[in-house]
Amino acid sequence: MRRALGLAGATRYAGYVAWRALARFDLAGDAAVEVWGRGRRFGYARLPGGLAYWYATRNSPPDAETSASRKADVAAEFARWHAPVPALIEATDATSILRHDIVDRPPSKRWGRGRVTLLGDAAHAMTPNLGQGACQAIEDAVVLARELAATSDVASALRAYEKARIPRTSAIVRESWRIGRAGQLEGRVACALRDLAVQKIPAAAHRRSVERVQGWTP
Ligand SMILES: Cc1cc2nc3c(=O)[nH]c(=O)nc-3n(C[C@H](O)[C@H](O)[C@H](O)COP(=O)(O)OP(=O)(O)OC[C@H]3O[C@@H](n4cnc5c(N)ncnc54)[C@H](O)[C@@H]3O)c2cc1C
Repeated sequence: MRRALGLAGATRYAGYVAWRALARFDLAGDAAVEVWGRGRRFGYARLPGGLAYWYATRNSPPDAETSASRKADVAAEFARWHAPVPALIEATDATSILRHDIVDRPPSKRWGRGRVTLLGDAAHAMTPNLGQGACQAIEDAVVLARELAATSDVASALRAYEKARIPRTSAIVRESWRIGRAGQLEGRVACALRDLAVQKIPAAAHRRSVERVQGWTP
């Protein structure tokens, strides 16, 4: 569809791979945590029913899975990390671990033509660093429904939908890419400077940036 609409189709590789899985694991006090290392990150969140969700990243060339054991790969990567990281990986069913090369698409200025438009990843594929890909697809759907309900002129409803959604989703694509770049820094000095800079971000500024992404109302 992107080709038919004359839009760039190629994705852009972000330079890292992500694993993720659910495990039966009691995370006790930790609601949600993401830890940045050098060229690697590990995050986890407590879910209802004694489950935990975890994800991990590592800088890597694309299509670089070589081992037959995905679990052994990720366990070796994070073997020397703090508790509960190694135990969380150990508690995971090996067959349930997903692995994806992380890609996005630089934002497009338009998404459609006539009675055709795009929604979700087809319109604004983004890296997962803000946890917003599916969330933005849902927001798209809400706005698309609203615009289609407001007029019987489908083409103008689609253009109004795009006008409402392109600026917000483009900003999130860019911000998510930037966070990924910072999170995946690997050099010792670069990481030390990054960690210092992150510590200096005032709590109020951090709250405002979270609110900008998550505080959307239709
Ligand atoms: C590692 C990782 C972590 C993520 N974490 C989060 C997160 O925490 N929060 C969040 O909100 N998002 C997250 N996402 C992003 C989220 O998964 C996507 O943004 C979301 O799935 C996009 O939904 P979609 O419906 O637009 O596209 P998709 O989920 O890709 O669905 C498109 C569907 O169309 C089907 N399809 C394709 N071509 C055809 C065809 N010709 N005919 C019929 N069917 C077709 C495909 O098979 C697919 O089922 C993450 C993604 C990754 C990779």
